[in-house]
Amino acid sequence: MTDRLRIALQKKGRLADDSFELLKKCGLRFAIRGGGLLARVKNMPIDLLLVRDDDIPSFVANDAADIGIVGENVLVEEQLVSREGLDAEITMRLGFSRCKLSLAAPNDGDINNTEQLNGTRIATTYPGVLGNFLKERGISAKSVEMKGAVELAPSIGIAESICDLVSSGATLEANGLSAFETILESEAVLIQSGRKLSADKQALLNKLMSRIDGVIKSSE
Ligand code: ATP
Ligand code: ZN
Repeated sequence: MTDRLRIALQKKGRLADDSFELLKKCGLRFAIRGGGLLARVKNMPIDLLLVRDDDIPSFVANDAADIGIVGENVLVEEQLVSREGLDAEITMRLGFSRCKLSLAAPNDGDINNTEQLNGTRIATTYPGVLGNFLKERGISAKSVEMKGAVELAPSIGIAESICDLVSSGATLEANGLSAFETILESEAVLIQSGRKLSADKQALLNKLMSRIDGVIKSSE
């Protein structure tokens, strides 16, 4: 690892722009261009590693990055599905990209509470969080893993309900679905492994975190 603090960020998607904006408000000067994997911060010894959000927890755990910004939902899912355990924990909550992981089913169907899931199929991109929830509640249902477009599962006929991220609820509504239970509340979080940083990197991280704190407070 270099002596520059490396931050893993989502390259493109719902977290990306708010993450870039937060860092810019903290005084970091950088330009994100096209396909690059690394963006260099011009005025501080910091590099940005631009990746898919799902890879961020393991990149932090495996020392490809010192810290990362990711949705709590993704961190918790990766922790639950990683067989060897994942060395990545929340250092700071960031207050943006708030959403819920919810259970939802067709408005005109038979399912409108969690007990009714027994013996049914639930489509999700979060098998870890869903499986954990079903186990805790003693519900026996089959989780059908999808990579995206989970909201289409009931109309395609591969599941009776879904477990998906919800923010405004517009996607559910557009697909004739209603949420009946929240299983996880999420926001963007700063994550770090248990490894000790060099004194220089730690000092820089402390400075960055105090600026992040200032930005969050001033926007409240
Ligand atoms: P990637 O290509 O990086 O894998 P993705 O398609 O998995 O991206 P996005 O849809 O960009 O992910 O969402 C990134 C994160 O934004 C989510 O994991 C979640 O924390 C947050 N988020 C906030 N609101 C929503 C929402 N309505 N739907 C999905 N994600 C949301
Ligand atoms: Zn993703």
